[in-house]
Amino acid sequence: MVRRLLLVLASLAALGAVPATPALGLHLSDADAVTVGMPSSATGASYAFETLLQGRPVRWDPCTAIHWRYRTSGQVVGGFTQVVKAIVRISRATGTTWVYDGAVTTAPTTSWLPKSSATRPPVLIGWATAARSDLLSGQSPNVLGVTRMAWFGVTRDGTTTAAIRSAVVALNQGKHLPLTGPVSWYTVVLHELSHAMGLAHAGSASQLMYPVIQPGLKDLQPGDLTGLARVGRAQGCIRL
Ligand SMILES: [Zn+2]
Repeated sequence: MVRRLLLVLASLAALGAVPATPALGLHLSDADAVTVGMPSSATGASYAFETLLQGRPVRWDPCTAIHWRYRTSGQVVGGFTQVVKAIVRISRATGTTWVYDGAVTTAPTTSWLPKSSATRPPVLIGWATAARSDLLSGQSPNVLGVTRMAWFGVTRDGTTTAAIRSAVVALNQGKHLPLTGPVSWYTVVLHELSHAMGLAHAGSASQLMYPVIQPGLKDLQPGDLTGLARVGRAQGCIRL
């Protein structure tokens, strides 16, 4: 009887030695902007990822719905419709599900992003001024939009698993663009949401993810779509 009790205690101690909840590290993407400027004929990579971990892009768990909110303060007339259209487009390109959680007046700033993996704020998208958003302050006057996202990673047995948990998209309220067509708010939001999904700037000027938005591009291009597919549902679920 005594012997059995000792065995149980020994196995409990062994269990206690295994970390129950490995620490999750927070990572923020660098501020990333799309601007208007001169046409380019650059022919670099057709897509790129913001962060690669062990050769794989950091992305959302595509099996969990991505919630989002919209800032009504400072919005462009007709802007909400274009944001919804862009979200539908990104949702189809990635196989992700997006859920609208309603309007807010909060400006899209870095402080919206989670400080720990315990919270998962919705993606916040909206127009703002440089005075209201740290994403836009200090940027070139040609900047149309800036996105920052937060991801968390955990390493177990030498394998790192990570997922994006939130993002903020700040659109420059001081710019006047058409709602649709080339160099429009629709294309700018597509560009920014592609950053939110984990894409970095493409080297090729024929893609919407080129850092200077190019005349003639009204929609995501083949390289953009390939990059988005590689951070999408087809790559499988992520369990942190
Ligand atoms: Zn960009």
